[in-house]
Amino acid sequence: MADRFFDNVMPDLVRETGNESRGDSLRNLLAMPYSSLSQQLKRSALDLKESRQVAQEIIKQGRSMAKNGSSPLMFEWYGERYWGAAHGLAGIVHVLMDVELKPDEAEDVKGTLGYMIKNRFPSGNYAASEEDRTRDLLVHWCHGAPGIALTLVKAAQVQPQQRWFGNWNRGLLKRVGICHGISGNAYVFLSLYRATGRSDYLYRAKAFASFLLDRAHKLLSKGEMHGGDTPYSLFEGLGDMAYLFLGGMLDPTQARFPGYEL
Ligand SMILES: [Zn+2]
Repeated sequence: MADRFFDNVMPDLVRETGNESRGDSLRNLLAMPYSSLSQQLKRSALDLKESRQVAQEIIKQGRSMAKNGSSPLMFEWYGERYWGAAHGLAGIVHVLMDVELKPDEAEDVKGTLGYMIKNRFPSGNYAASEEDRTRDLLVHWCHGAPGIALTLVKAAQVQPQQRWFGNWNRGLLKRVGICHGISGNAYVFLSLYRATGRSDYLYRAKAFASFLLDRAHKLLSKGEMHGGDTPYSLFEGLGDMAYLFLGGMLDPTQARFPGYEL
C-alpha cells in the first residue's frame, strides 16, 4: 500500500512570516500568509486557464474529426461521438467558452452549438451521440438536453420560445444524483431561471426539489428509485440532494451546477 502515497515529511507547522525564508520552495509557500498564498494560487490557476495550447489542440482535433456538412467540431470517446455534457460536444464546447478564442475558433464553437440545436429531436431533447441520432431516450445532464441547456445558457443563446418541455415532462428520473438524476435536472431549471429571470423555471426547480424532499427516501427504500452505484456521492447519490437543498435552493440566484458552471 505504501506506493499509493508519498511519505509526508512536511513540517507539522510552519509559522507564517511573510518573509522569503531560505530553504526549499515548499517551505517558503508554507511560510506565506494565507492571503498572499491564495493570490499566488489564483495567479497560477489563471495561467492555466489562459493557456491557449490546450484549446488549440482541442480545436485541431475537433476539426480533423468533423465531416463536411456536419458539425464544425466533433470528438470521439470509446468509438462513439457523444453530444452530451459529460463526454461530448456540449461539455467540450462549455470549456472552450472559458478560453480566449480566435475569431475562426469562436465561429466553430458557435457552429457546433448551432448544429446541435438544428438537429435536436422534435420533443426538444438532444441525442446522446452521432451514432444514436434516432433514439430520443436520455434526459440527463451527462447525456441529453439538461447538460446541453447549461452550455446554451453559458453561450447566452437560450431561445425564449424553447421551454425545455423535454426536461420537464421526462426529467423526473427514477434516480437521485446530479449526473443522471432528478437533482441534476433541478439545477438546469435553476440555471435557466438565473439566465432569464422567468418564474416558471424557478417553479420547475422548486417542483423537482419538492418531489425529492417528499418522496426520494420512500421511493429509495421501496427500490422504486435507483440510489446510485455510490449511494452517498455527489454525482450519483444522496450527496447531490444535500447539495441541491443547501446550495441551489437556498439562493437560486447563486445556484451553480457543481463542477460545470463557474
Ligand atoms: Zn450520468
